[in-house]
Amino acid sequence: MKVLKFGGTSVGSVENMLNVKNIINDGSEKVVVLSAMSGTTNQLVAIAKDITEHRGDVAAEKVNALHVTYNQVIDELLTDAALNAKTKTYVSGVFNFLLGCTSKWTAELVENQIVAQGELMSTYMFNSFLQQEGVNSVLLPALNFMKIDGFKEPDVQYIEENLQVVLSESGPADIYITQGFICLDDAGEISNLQRGGSDYTATIIGAAIKAEEVQIWTDIDGMHNNDPRFVEHTNPISDLSFDEAAELAYFGAKILHPQTVNPVRKDSIPVRLKNTMNPEAHGTLISSKTSETGIKAIAAKDGITAIKIKSAHMLQAYGFLKKVFEIFETYQTSIDMITTSEVAVSLTIDDDKNLDKILAELDKIASIEVDVNQSIVCLVGHAVVNHQDTFRLFQILQDVKIRMISYGGSNNNISLLIDSQDKIKTLQKLNSYLFEMAAV
Ligand code: ADP
Ligand code: ASP
Ligand code: MG
Repeated sequence: MKVLKFGGTSVGSVENMLNVKNIINDGSEKVVVLSAMSGTTNQLVAIAKDITEHRGDVAAEKVNALHVTYNQVIDELLTDAALNAKTKTYVSGVFNFLLGCTSKWTAELVENQIVAQGELMSTYMFNSFLQQEGVNSVLLPALNFMKIDGFKEPDVQYIEENLQVVLSESGPADIYITQGFICLDDAGEISNLQRGGSDYTATIIGAAIKAEEVQIWTDIDGMHNNDPRFVEHTNPISDLSFDEAAELAYFGAKILHPQTVNPVRKDSIPVRLKNTMNPEAHGTLISSKTSETGIKAIAAKDGITAIKIKSAHMLQAYGFLKKVFEIFETYQTSIDMITTSEVAVSLTIDDDKNLDKILAELDKIASIEVDVNQSIVCLVGHAVVNHQDTFRLFQILQDVKIRMISYGGSNNNISLLIDSQDKIKTLQKLNSYLFEMAAV
């Protein structure tokens, strides 16, 4: 069985939902994971913030406006009167629930409850649409099987067992539709896999059912060799290894949630990236095969904080780095990049939730300097560190201040830390040199 995930744009209009129906309706059994309609999750996040910050009236206005939009989509999508009425009743239930959310709840509960509604509505609406079109589909409620543990990792055993139960209880169908993104946490409360998490849902399900392939359908023809939001003349990459795709996703290629590849690499389940608006395009195939050497793609991740930790004779004093790392471990904050010298270690984090506490602890053992608004630019490929293009990077980027560089940590990645305001310039210069062969 295959798992096919469709993102926000793919279910964001009636026209695109029709494209999705045509793609999935080929008679073969499959699991279809859907995101919320594009824009909805952002609107729900804003509504949750209004509620938490005691702007109940503003929130109610937004909820009512969104309700009107959803009713319009339902009218366009569902011409069958009974299915139209049933779906409007479901959606009204959701909007009434949103109107009842209150600042008396914790901010986390408000947000988690509210953002989950986008996927619940899109799947219900799309399933109604398939029924109207005579497709044999059934809804699988993600909250009955998708769960994360105390470390926010998928609870693999729980998911496998419960997904089997849900599948067998649903009875046979051609298409099993489920919600991306949403899950339960270890306490059984509603939670999610973080923004963009529907990709991750698809590969978690793919691994749980040992799928033959996972397909991520979106609004672009696969992973491009640079970020198309900031750079012109980017091109799709036809093949990537799991390692290459994992580096690109982790270091900012928005087309994939950072963790997407992890669940499926162990069983070498291929992941295909495809364009809903242009299904004929090859897209990108992510698999265990490695292909040609050299830099294949560039990605950038914003919101990075760099911390320089300085202590005389740092490297000679064995145990020093251990103490440093233990502080980050205590506050469950992972480190992305690291460079050392005899007197200092510089490292980066992307989660600054516990930054103040971390800095207070570090201050006890060393002097520290902090730089915010940094970006990691990551060059990814196979055997990149040995490749002939690599040696000129400093020359190409001579007018960019490189704060840190990580080279040789893996064969797949060279990472540079720069000020975020230099990001677009850096991505463009690297693109011209590496992929457009222009004189620089
Ligand atoms: P979906 O809603 O389908 O999950 P996303 O918006 O999350 O779609 O991801 C697709 C978008 O990712 C593209 O429209 C593109 O703007 C952006 N993107 C960023 N980097 C890349 C890249 N390297 N290759 C392709 N798309 C990228
Ligand atoms: N709807 C969620 C988001 O916008 C999950 C996803 O689209 O993957 O982040
Ligand atoms: Mg996405």
